[in-house]
Amino acid sequence: PSLHTPPTSTIAQVDRRYHLHSQTNMRRHQRQGPLVIERGDGVHVIDEHGQAYIEGMSGLWCASLGFSNRRLAGAAQRQLETLPYYHTFNHRVPAVTARLAERICELAKMPEAKVFFACSGSEANDSMIKMAWAYHRARGNPQKRKVIAHQRGFHGSTVMGASLSGLPNMHAAFGLPLDGVIHVDCPHHYRNGQAGESEAEFCARLVNQLEKRIEAEGPQNIAAFISEPIMGAGGVIVPPAGYFAAVQALLARHDILMLADEIICGFGRTGQWFGHQTMGFTPDLMACAKSLSAGYQPISCVLVSAPVYAVLEEQSSELDGFGHGFTYSGHPVAAAVALEALDIYREMNVPLHTAAMGRELHQCLSPLLDHPLIGEIRGIGLVAGLELVEDKASRASFPARLAIGAQVELAARRHGLIVRNMGDAIALAPPYIIDAEQIREMVARLRAALDEVY
Ligand code: PLP
Repeated sequence: PSLHTPPTSTIAQVDRRYHLHSQTNMRRHQRQGPLVIERGDGVHVIDEHGQAYIEGMSGLWCASLGFSNRRLAGAAQRQLETLPYYHTFNHRVPAVTARLAERICELAKMPEAKVFFACSGSEANDSMIKMAWAYHRARGNPQKRKVIAHQRGFHGSTVMGASLSGLPNMHAAFGLPLDGVIHVDCPHHYRNGQAGESEAEFCARLVNQLEKRIEAEGPQNIAAFISEPIMGAGGVIVPPAGYFAAVQALLARHDILMLADEIICGFGRTGQWFGHQTMGFTPDLMACAKSLSAGYQPISCVLVSAPVYAVLEEQSSELDGFGHGFTYSGHPVAAAVALEALDIYREMNVPLHTAAMGRELHQCLSPLLDHPLIGEIRGIGLVAGLELVEDKASRASFPARLAIGAQVELAARRHGLIVRNMGDAIALAPPYIIDAEQIREMVARLRAALDEVY
């Protein structure tokens, strides 16, 4: 066989022949083939046949400035021509990376914090767990290793990221999760609340259960609790008011660090700069990615609060080094793009802007609650989840064999809209640059797709 693509082959054939896709049923892919996207234009992406789609998911919750921002492209180009690569090991730093760290701390209102850079959300989450372990070891508690996470949480695809995730499809093929990861109930009132239980009662019950679990596992063995402020891939789940504040108080009593996975929520998605502000808690460590660079470059970070940093600094001095970091940590091209994205967000007045457009989105979506397929609409800011039900009264889900979410996703695509299928739910997380008319059009296309499937 030739090493080069034969001129007669289409991209779809080449893809089927050579590409192993992320998060994809490989056999179905051989039958169905890929959606080949050739270019982007504002909130739209355009496929190889010239068909335009409203990208209702910002790709993977990340292309917050849409798909054709010239300023981000310019920032990348300038940095590529100035310093295309340098690293952050052994006291080195690209100038732009240091400036980005400062800007992130300003926006997070954590002036005493430090920023550690990585390339992906999974790496940032893995880094947080290692930091939590290092923190407890340095304070004389090396047995504090276990980590608590939520059922239906999503924290990535590395060995630890997948272990932390509470989604069976992240575990089944690999014999995960690793020992020492504890999954607790998902704080989703619609699905997990008991008959007649109010949100406040549900919240109190979950916190009580968490306390019992901590006692059963032994608080002396538990390093950290990790959660997304709003759980994205698990179905856009917004925990009840007061949940995180109560969890935080409980963790503090047991010297367990609170880790926020802000990879979807961070930098404006929920109508505040960070999801923990929307949900009312203060993390000891937080991981960000995605909107940090508007998805234009792979970059993530961990914000390390001052008290945790002080312990890590002391330890690294004793050990003569912090034994963690990546070749591409703080990559200058990614940093330059991120810095530009954060400038644009400030000029756009994110989070005021995302809060206002979020209200528009949720107002437009709310009439869909009358649709026979929709049991619940949830979310805040520019992120929404729609629960698909077979029976609204009993809240019964469709049988898995009907793949209802996939049906809606494909129907939406036929109407020129990309949404995310999460099994029993459909997600929307459009670019921050979407306008009111485009929101109305997006929701109209979604309704048409639901009607087609119904
Ligand atoms: N955490 C959350 C909340 C995510 O949504 C994702 C990705 O979607 C990740 C972690 C993993 O990020 P990455 O795919 O960049 O490793």
